[in-house]
Amino acid sequence: MKIIDGKFYSEQILSELRAEVAGLIDRDLRVPHIAAILVGSDGASETYIANKEKKARSVGITSSLYRLPANVSEKELLDVISFLNNDDEVDGILVQLPLPAHISATRVIETILPSKDVDGFHPINMGRLALGQDGFVPATPMGIMELLRRASIDTAGKHCVILGRSNIVGTPAALLMSRNNKYANSTVTLCHSKTENLAAIASSADILIAAIGKPEFVTASMIREGAVVIDVGIHRLPLKDGNYRIVGDVKYDEAATRTSAITPVPGGVGVMTTTCLLQNVMKAYHLRNGARPI
Ligand code: NAP
Repeated sequence: MKIIDGKFYSEQILSELRAEVAGLIDRDLRVPHIAAILVGSDGASETYIANKEKKARSVGITSSLYRLPANVSEKELLDVISFLNNDDEVDGILVQLPLPAHISATRVIETILPSKDVDGFHPINMGRLALGQDGFVPATPMGIMELLRRASIDTAGKHCVILGRSNIVGTPAALLMSRNNKYANSTVTLCHSKTENLAAIASSADILIAAIGKPEFVTASMIREGAVVIDVGIHRLPLKDGNYRIVGDVKYDEAATRTSAITPVPGGVGVMTTTCLLQNVMKAYHLRNGARPI
């Protein structure tokens, strides 16, 4: 059984990005820049943003953080985005979700210039993804594809079952896995809360991607012997001593006895997500500089 080591592949990609940024500095060129917007001071969002900024810095990508109060009006937030859309020094814009209830996340996402939408949530980028065109792909499914490719998992002609159809994970993952290219070409079944016989469908998968948001939902009996399992879930389970244990959507210990390859949690998909976001920032930079067409 092989452990698909997200930390290892993430470091590989970060080294590639670091070398690319160093090459820009050597040529006296501007380095990529990401602008992040944080509304309010939710603890988890603060941590996510800090991690993204730290990782960006580690490869030489610069960042700026726009902090807005929780009671900021939608108009004020949209004005900040418009300002960043027009700033030539900004390659990517990231608005940390979730937003307070009085702000429409849809309007916010649609205000970001598609060419700076490094989260890949804008309808234009989602549309490009659906059409098989080049654009920005959301970082989590992008991380899944990078893991499969770098770990040399054969996907062509395989039955890939995806549990969960969210816009940020399951649906884009289904589109990517069914694309007509060497690193995809899977036959995809996309499951959700109304799916009947989910356990039977899951156990027919060659590749099982769990993005269901339920701690340790996938048990050994739902996994075909020799399947590849990609666990997207991240949950903190409180322990009696006040600490917590991080688990995924898959019951790892029992699943691992049946799989040919599996991603751990933590250290699997999660660590790839911020790394792939930086790949998108680099892509946005090249796009804006005309060096690489989108
Ligand atoms: P989400 O928006 O809550 O979507 C969950 C999906 O699972 C929905 O499509 C839902 O179906 C389906 N579902 C829920 N309960 C089900 C059940 N009992 N049977 C079948 N389907 C069921 O979640 P998400 O944002 O995609 O996230 C999924 C997981 O990935 C979470 O654990 C999240 O923390 C994690 N995550 C990790 C990363 C990362 O960087 N590793 C990034 C994003 C998310 P319906 O559509 O019918 O409601």
